[in-house]
Amino acid sequence: MPAKRAWRKLVKKQQRQRRRQRQARAREKEEALEEEALKAKPEYEAWLKQQAELEEFHRLASERLRAEEEEAWLRREALAQRQFQIDRAKRAQEESKLESLRLQQAKELEEELEKQRKRREESKRLAEEAAAEFEAMLQRMQEYMDDSEDRTPPAELRRVVETNPAEKLCEFYTRTNCCRYGNSCTFNHRRPMLAKILLIRHFFTHPLLQVGETHKEYASTDEHLELTEQDLRNDYDEFFNDAIGELQKFGKILNFRAVRNTLPHLRGHVFVEYAQERFALRAFVNLQGRYYASRRLQVEFSNLKGWRGAVCGT
Ligand SMILES: [Zn+2]
Repeated sequence: MPAKRAWRKLVKKQQRQRRRQRQARAREKEEALEEEALKAKPEYEAWLKQQAELEEFHRLASERLRAEEEEAWLRREALAQRQFQIDRAKRAQEESKLESLRLQQAKELEEELEKQRKRREESKRLAEEAAAEFEAMLQRMQEYMDDSEDRTPPAELRRVVETNPAEKLCEFYTRTNCCRYGNSCTFNHRRPMLAKILLIRHFFTHPLLQVGETHKEYASTDEHLELTEQDLRNDYDEFFNDAIGELQKFGKILNFRAVRNTLPHLRGHVFVEYAQERFALRAFVNLQGRYYASRRLQVEFSNLKGWRGAVCGT
């Protein structure tokens, strides 16, 4: 490009620039003047005031909205709090109900254990008392047996044992001191705890008295077939001498009677009457646990009224 054209172009550009600047300045000046003029007008002032009021109105409106939202939130929060407290109170009530139930159960268990403990203590105390009483009774019994001057036996021994106190007396037992029904008898058996007469059950045993259940056994042996009434007599005499020799050690004997009866519940019973209860008691105590002819002696006191009924009893 020739230098002259470039120069012209530059000049024109600068001219355009200057013109635009001039125009801008003129416009600004004009606007300032217009504003001045507007400000001077009362309508403009009113408009400005209105704008400011409008802005204030918007600000208040949005503030109110915010306040309302906050209030609503607070209400919800308060409701939630209240519900939470109700739930918590309900939970606490249920827990306290459970707790009191638990306490009640624990208390009942405690009471039950205490009751059991007391019962145990009570039965232990009674057992100890009974043992002590029994011990004292044994002591008294021993004194009574040892001292011939002592006329009174321990009061405990004055008791009578009854199997069925509410029932009528058993006729057989009263007459013979024996009953085929034993302790299962429905009538009443009365037995003294001390008497002059001792009953030793099944003391004398002999094959000739064993008719019934053992008959066959003996019948099969030749030995038994040859046994006679005389043999029985001799064997009994031997038994009598043995027994009386032993039983006299405890005191004077007035009567010695054996039941010559083959009935199983009467067979071989021996009644021994001593001159004193003291002697009978000595015999009773000493014969406990003793054996005769491989059998443990069954000794008890007897309140037999007459010999005849007993010894021939059926
Ligand atoms: Zn009976």
